[in-house]
Amino acid sequence: MLNGICPECAAPVPLREDVVLHEFLTCPECGVALEVISLSPLTLDRAPQVEEDWGE
Ligand SMILES: [Zn+2]
Repeated sequence: MLNGICPECAAPVPLREDVVLHEFLTCPECGVALEVISLSPLTLDRAPQVEEDWGE
């Protein structure tokens, strides 16, 4: 089992062995949206927030 580290709460985030770059996942601890930004070393970052701000 691979583990990344949540940049938001520093909790270990379990990843599948076949995880791919730019895969999106969710931190099981704090629920933040994460993106795999590097595979070697395995690095997670907060996924870019998509602000759907229609009609402004
Ligand atoms: Zn977290």
